[in-house]
Amino acid sequence: MHSVDAVVAGAGIWGCTVARRLAELGRSVLVLDRREAVGGNVRCETDPSTGIEIHLYGSHIFHTHIPEVWEFVNRFVRFNGYQHKVLARYCGRTYFLPLGLALINKFFGTELSPGEVEEFMKDEAHASAVFDAFFRGYTSKQWGRPPEQIDPSIIKRVPVRSNYDVNYFNDHCQGIPLSGYNSLFERLLDHPSITVRLGAELRLEGGVFKVGGDVLPAVPVYYSGPVDALFGCRFGHLPWRSLRFETEWLDVADYQGTSVVNYTEADVPYTRIHEFKHYHPENAAAMSARRTVVMREYPCEWKPGDEPYYPVDCEESRALLSRYREEAAKVRGLVVGGRLGGYRYFDMDRSVEAALSLPL
Ligand SMILES: Cc1cc2nc3c(=O)[nH]c(=O)nc-3n(C[C@H](O)[C@H](O)[C@H](O)COP(=O)(O)OP(=O)(O)OC[C@H]3O[C@@H](n4cnc5c(N)ncnc54)[C@H](O)[C@@H]3O)c2cc1C
Repeated sequence: MHSVDAVVAGAGIWGCTVARRLAELGRSVLVLDRREAVGGNVRCETDPSTGIEIHLYGSHIFHTHIPEVWEFVNRFVRFNGYQHKVLARYCGRTYFLPLGLALINKFFGTELSPGEVEEFMKDEAHASAVFDAFFRGYTSKQWGRPPEQIDPSIIKRVPVRSNYDVNYFNDHCQGIPLSGYNSLFERLLDHPSITVRLGAELRLEGGVFKVGGDVLPAVPVYYSGPVDALFGCRFGHLPWRSLRFETEWLDVADYQGTSVVNYTEADVPYTRIHEFKHYHPENAAAMSARRTVVMREYPCEWKPGDEPYYPVDCEESRALLSRYREEAAKVRGLVVGGRLGGYRYFDMDRSVEAALSLPL
């Protein structure tokens, strides 16, 4: 192994941003990932029959209001300006999320004006009806709890828009890389001072970092894998919710007319259907192909060995996390970050922001 100044373990968006910064500071960086490909959970695959970009770990839309983050990612890729909209299917009818005039007027058959909607939604009966239809079933599927255990006060925290704006995110910088997500990672890592090793899992054994049969040199290690796994889960496993995806190729030009539809009823076993061609309206060949790719998303229990998706925030997990954090703080030169290391849900822009603000 030639000389390295730093090791980055985990080639997701956090790790690749850290690696790029280190390389631009003149350091020689070894990037490891236990998978056979870079990109972490933002990894995509292009369907050879249609050219459709399939998001392997569920839909990913880049959105931010942080200028430094937008500027940074735009150094590597251009974005197509896609604006995310989410529809919700309930009792055979389709509604625009988020909770705003479009949804409320369609659901109640009203013609409320912007000035009337807030007062209307203060009525307990209206709020409960909306909660039951759009949030209770969906949230219970997402978190694996019976609908009765879902607290109706959640609705109080859901912002109500008093207009017909159906953009899902408030961020004005939004889009999907024109050249695909994978190109973002390939370009981030395309630097003479960066070496990438795939199928390479970082381990900590007897106080030394190892990969395969090699002992790594005593240099700073930036790790974005699960924090408990680094310590052999010696205090127990941090709990996660997992997802199962079912992909289907259909001989129709357009299955649902949009990229994401949420299925909000508790007895529909999946939460969402993704139809990926809609993320690239500029891809005329894929858009006009009489074939499409859809993916159903099923939330499920997590057990060791499954893909971790959403951290479960509870008293036990917080206590466990602080024990692992204490362990990590004792390891010289170790910096733990990213969604798995931090045991936090991060959007991509927040991961980039965290990586950009890390003192190196
Ligand atoms: C279902 C879902 C949908 C999402 N949609 C969006 C969205 O629309 N927009 C958005 O902004 N964000 C979205 N996110 C969040 C986004 O996925 C994260 O922000 C992003 O993946 C975080 O990047 P990361 O580098 O921290 O982690 P990851 O992408 O998980 O990368 C971590 C990498 O570390 C590797 N690794 C783990 N252990 C080791 C080890 N011991 N040695 C070497 N490598 C290791 C893993 O193989 C992985 O490649 C979504 C998340 C989920 C769960």
